Amino acid sequence: MKYFLAIIGGGPAGYTAAERASKAGKDVVLFEQNALGGTCLNVGCIPTKSLLYGAKQYYNATHAAKYGVTAENVVFDYAAMQKRKTIVVRKLVAGIKARLNNEHCTVVNGAASVLPPLRGGAEWGLECNGETYEAENLMICTGSTNFVPPIPGIKDNPAVWDSTDALAAAELPKSIIIVGGGVIGMEFATLYHELGVPVTVIEAMPTILPNLDPEVVQILLEKYKKAGINILTSTKVESLDDGKVTANGEVYEAEKVLVSVGRRANLQGLEALSDIELERGAIKIDDFCKTNLPNVYACGDVTGKIMLAHVASRQAEVAVGRMLKEIPLQRIAYNAIPSVVYTNPEIASVGITEAQAESMSIPVEVRKLPMTFSGRFMAENEGETGLCKMIVDAKNHSILGIHCIGNPCSEFIAAASFAVRNGYTVPEMQQVVFPHPTVSEILHEIL
Ligand code: NAD
Repeated sequence: MKYFLAIIGGGPAGYTAAERASKAGKDVVLFEQNALGGTCLNVGCIPTKSLLYGAKQYYNATHAAKYGVTAENVVFDYAAMQKRKTIVVRKLVAGIKARLNNEHCTVVNGAASVLPPLRGGAEWGLECNGETYEAENLMICTGSTNFVPPIPGIKDNPAVWDSTDALAAAELPKSIIIVGGGVIGMEFATLYHELGVPVTVIEAMPTILPNLDPEVVQILLEKYKKAGINILTSTKVESLDDGKVTANGEVYEAEKVLVSVGRRANLQGLEALSDIELERGAIKIDDFCKTNLPNVYACGDVTGKIMLAHVASRQAEVAVGRMLKEIPLQRIAYNAIPSVVYTNPEIASVGITEAQAESMSIPVEVRKLPMTFSGRFMAENEGETGLCKMIVDAKNHSILGIHCIGNPCSEFIAAASFAVRNGYTVPEMQQVVFPHPTVSEILHEIL
């Protein structure tokens, strides 16, 4: 049988594309070597959020006195947290399987590899589990893998974990050093710290979370340092020896070392596509997620654009729309991609930062307001001030970026994305009614 679309990889990009194209009545085959849901669902977003939620319950229970609640003998059961995480993941994976079944999409469990182009590249062949498949269109959604930096002593070191190892570990480490203070590093720092594990974060750049607004990051940094997390910046790891980490000439020691220094596009199984154009080790795509090869698309982390699950699924929607020649063709608003870091407090942002506006020579007005201007925030976030920053185009007053720290900003950043995506101006946003009392009102107060 010849398929309209063959997809390699069943993560957010792959399963979204499969569902969309199948819904449009097309024959689709999707290859996944592990579980449906990819990194996000199985070893990324969802399991970390499940564990972080458990840790937050424990943290809140042990820090409730400021709200007039005293709980004694509060204990946590990490095995139970892990079990709950596994159940959440299992249910979500089953949900994706059911959705694809409903759309009559063929799902093949196995590692697929692309065959050399058929009929001058007009069609594509794939091999999986000894069977051959043919398709008119090929979509590569193979994701990314944890990057292992060339640090002496890192390979085959039993003390070294990547994020997948950390999520799978049945027991908490007695102490941990986290190499890389990026998104993964800071979310795991939060998890372990809230469960009482001594944490040291080693970050090579002058700041943790270097891609975010520095003022927002500073608030997190101060809180975490005060809480006892040892955060070392401008510190480069030179070597590892079991749990001993040498960095900037000093030796730090912990039971485990979590290495979270970024991820790299996974190009396995694509060896036959020797002519595919790459950019910084990832597959180069155009605005519609097309590669330079005919009828070959790529979506998600493998494109190295922005490694976020919601970018992957949006890319998949756009790519399938292009494949189906939908009119008008959709594009991705890369300028309005929200991102969240699930620290405590959470950080959420969308659009450009003040520094990016400066580097792009865009004259902007920067508005800032502590989150305490929201009554709901005051009622629920005892002792914290939080911050909301808005970057406004000084010429036409359109909203270009919003950056927040304070719980639960992850839940209202979508409203900010809406404003940035649609180029709302400050007077237009002022006409939007926000429910009271909600923390989201900060987006109105700041105008
Ligand atoms: P990252 O790029 O966010 O952070 C890696 C950090 O490691 C950087 O700050 C970098 O300066 C530092 N670093 C690099 N080499 C180092 C070295 N030798 N010593 C010390 N520090 C070093 O990457 P990540 O945290 O591994 O995350 C990978 C991807 O997954 C990112 O694209 C991220 O956005 C995504 N992710 C997103 C979420 C979320 O949306 N909440 C959660 C987890 C991961």
